[in-house]
Amino acid sequence: MKRTILLNPGPVTLTERVRNALLKPDLCHREPEFAELILDIKRQLLQVYPESVADYDAIVLTGSGTCAVEAMLSSLVPKTGKALIVSNGVYGERMAAMLQVQGKSFQTIASAWHEPIDLEAVNQYLAQNPATSHVISVHHETTTGRLNDIAGLGKLCAHYQIPLLLDAVSSFAAEFIRFAEWNIEACAGTANKCLHGVPGLSFVLVKKSVFAQRPSAATSVYLDLYPYHREQQQGFSPFTQAVQIAYALQEALLEFFQAGGWQARHELYVNRAQLIRQELYRLGIEMLLNEADYSTTLTSFKLPDYTSYEQIYAVLKKQGFIIYAGQGGLKNKIFRIANMGDIQADEMENLLDCFNKLFA
Ligand SMILES: *Cc1c(COP(=O)(O)O)cnc(C)c1O
Repeated sequence: MKRTILLNPGPVTLTERVRNALLKPDLCHREPEFAELILDIKRQLLQVYPESVADYDAIVLTGSGTCAVEAMLSSLVPKTGKALIVSNGVYGERMAAMLQVQGKSFQTIASAWHEPIDLEAVNQYLAQNPATSHVISVHHETTTGRLNDIAGLGKLCAHYQIPLLLDAVSSFAAEFIRFAEWNIEACAGTANKCLHGVPGLSFVLVKKSVFAQRPSAATSVYLDLYPYHREQQQGFSPFTQAVQIAYALQEALLEFFQAGGWQARHELYVNRAQLIRQELYRLGIEMLLNEADYSTTLTSFKLPDYTSYEQIYAVLKKQGFIIYAGQGGLKNKIFRIANMGDIQADEMENLLDCFNKLFA
């Protein structure tokens, strides 16, 4: 049977190798074998960006990417103090909603969803507010596909010596991340996007020194990174972990390194994205952003006036491809195509054929 290819921004189409890893023997999360599995995953996660190995610890959580982001903000953003959220999409706004719920004080510098983050405004704000506790932003804003200028933002964070908390959920393992240069205190990622694992585990890379320097700011028992950090030194976790999904993540990481690491994944995605963008361009479908502004993982296209999202979605679904709608105000304006996961060359060709049937 023809398999379904997921072109939504996570979860992704699995390789058989990763899927089969789900079928390993049952294991209690209090057993030494599970601790070894988690220690191996933590070690491999840091190896994705070797620069992070010396100064960061990986903390593995059971939950989707949002879980890692919320645990990061809950545990690290102080209850007294003021953070700055730099946002231009759904995921930046979601982090503001989290701090709101946590009762923490913050300022937002928001740009329109189709605009870049406003570094000039950030520069001015930080010059006037040197006591800002953290700068918080999204690396790849999946709302539009824009890869935000976190190099520029990170440079400001380094200049003003303000730690950066980064939602790297849809960029981790496929885009360039500089930990020291960008003054990253922590970044959040997930198993089931660029790492090609199964949904259900996520992780935060946190600067080790943080745990010694200040107490947890957690507003949640379950999402407190501090006990996780303490117990995962030995590979154990305070609560039951998604054991089978951990097996699959370990396998996905092995596969990732065997394929050449993040640079190879970046190249793979660039090639796929180019095929998709070029074919749709040829068929008169415009991109929402300038091509240079996109990440390698997802592209947003303007809906042509002669058809609807529902129609495009339905035709592609029938052919075995799942695409994604726009969110909020972009709902009836764009469609999005992610290119993560296991997609074979003939499946890419089928996709381009479908585009031709839809838009020619
Ligand atoms: C996918 C994603 C998340 C997490 O979403 P979940 O549904 O919890 O997996 C967070 N931030 C960004 C930028 C994302 O793309």
